Amino acid sequence: MIIKPRIKGFVCITSHPTGCLENIREQVAYAKSQEIFHEHKPKRVLVIGSSTGYGLSSRISAAFSCGADTLGVYFERPPAGERTASAGFYNSQAFCKLAKEAGLQAEDINGDAFSNEIKDEVVVKAKEFGGQFDLVIYSLASPRRTDPKDGVSYRACLKPIGAIYKNKTLDTDKQEVKEVTIDPASEDEIAQTEKVMGGEDWESWTDVLLDAGLLSPNCLNIAYSYIGPQVTQPIYRNGTIGQAKLHLENSAARISEKMRNAGSGKAYVSVNKALVTQASSAIPVVPLYVSILYKIMKEMGTHEGCIEQTCRLFKDRLYGEGDTLVDEENRIRLDDWEMDPIVQEKIIEIWPSITTENLKELTSFELYQEEFLKLFGFGRNDVDYELEVDPSASL
Ligand code: NAD
Repeated sequence: MIIKPRIKGFVCITSHPTGCLENIREQVAYAKSQEIFHEHKPKRVLVIGSSTGYGLSSRISAAFSCGADTLGVYFERPPAGERTASAGFYNSQAFCKLAKEAGLQAEDINGDAFSNEIKDEVVVKAKEFGGQFDLVIYSLASPRRTDPKDGVSYRACLKPIGAIYKNKTLDTDKQEVKEVTIDPASEDEIAQTEKVMGGEDWESWTDVLLDAGLLSPNCLNIAYSYIGPQVTQPIYRNGTIGQAKLHLENSAARISEKMRNAGSGKAYVSVNKALVTQASSAIPVVPLYVSILYKIMKEMGTHEGCIEQTCRLFKDRLYGEGDTLVDEENRIRLDDWEMDPIVQEKIIEIWPSITTENLKELTSFELYQEEFLKLFGFGRNDVDYELEVDPSASL
C-alpha cells in the first residue's frame, strides 16, 4: 500500500517503515562520528522508553558511539493488516537490524514498563543477554500509569497550579497563533501526574535491577527531565508536569544512595533541551516556544536534535574527561545552550510580537513541521513515498 501521513491533532496515526529506517540510519551515522574511547564506556545497556525521542537516540548513542549491546523496552503498536505500526515499532525494528548488522546484540521487549510482568521479563532476558548493565536510561513519557502494587490507574495532566494560565499557543494543525486559557489543576490531578511522571517507577525499576544483581559496580542510571524558559513556566515547570519532574529529580539522590550502598554505581537526572518529540508536541505553548527556539539556536549555530543531545551527554558528560559535570542540584545540564541568557532574552523579545501572519517569518515553524512529520518517517527527500510498501513486512 501507499502510506501517507494522517495527522489528528498533535499525533500522526500512520507511519512509514522506510522513512523510519532512514531516520535511524541518519542517527546511526551521527553516533558513529562521535565514537567514545573512555575506559568505562558501557558494554551492556538497558533503555526504558527506547523506541522514540530521547530514549531512542540514547540507545543509538550507546550502540554506535560506544559499541554496546542494548536491551530496549517500549510500548508500541505492531502493524495489523492495512494499519501501519506506530513509528516507534518501525524505529525499533530498524535499530535492531542495523545493530545486528554491526555485530551488536539488540533485544526488545514491547509492553507496559510500569508493570511487574515487564520488569520480570527484563530480569530474565538480561541474564540471557550476558548479565549486568553498566548503563540504564529511563526515558518514559506516558499519559497514564497503572500502579502494579494495587492496580489503581493514574492519569497525568498538563495544567498550571494555583492560578488560571493564559498565554499564546500554536494550533499546529491550523497554523494559527491563538490564546489558550487553562484552569489550574486540582490536588488530585497534581498527585496523579506525579504518580505517572515522577520518580516512583524509576525507583521501582532500580529496586528490581538491584535485587537481581543486574547493575554493575560502575553502572550509571540516568533519567531525563526538563526545566525550560520563563514563557512556559506556569504550564511546565511550575505546573503539574514540573511537580512530577521535581519528584523525579528528588528521587535521584535516594536512588543513587541505594546504588552506592549496593556497590552498583550512581544515578543522575539529565535536564535536556526542548525538542520536537511525540511527547512534547502534546504540551500547550511548547510547539510555539520550540519554533522560536529552533530559529534562534540555528542562527547561533547551537541547534541540536535528540541524537546530538544524547551524543553530547555520552561524550562530554557521562564518559568525558574528569567527573560528571553537574549543577548545584546534582543534575546534568544538557539544556545549557537552550538556557543561554542570549537565547532566552531573544525569546522574551520576540514572544509578544508573534502572530499567525508573521509566524513563518519570526519562527522556524516550517522546520518544526518537518521535524514533526519526520517523527513518523515522512517528509524525507531520500524516500519515494509513491512506492508501494507492506506495513507488516520486516524491515
Ligand atoms: P517520546 O514520546 O518520544 O518517548 C517516550 C517513550 O516512552 C517511547 O519509547 C514509548 O514507547 C515509551 N513508553 C511510553 N509509555 C510506556 C509504557 N507504559 N511502557 C513502556 N514504554 C512506554 O518522549 P520524549 O520526549 O523522548 O521523552 C522522554 C523523556 O525525556 C521524558 O522524561 C521527557 O520528559 C524527557 N524530556 C523531553 C524533552 C522534549 O522536549 N521532548 C525535553 C527534556 C526532557
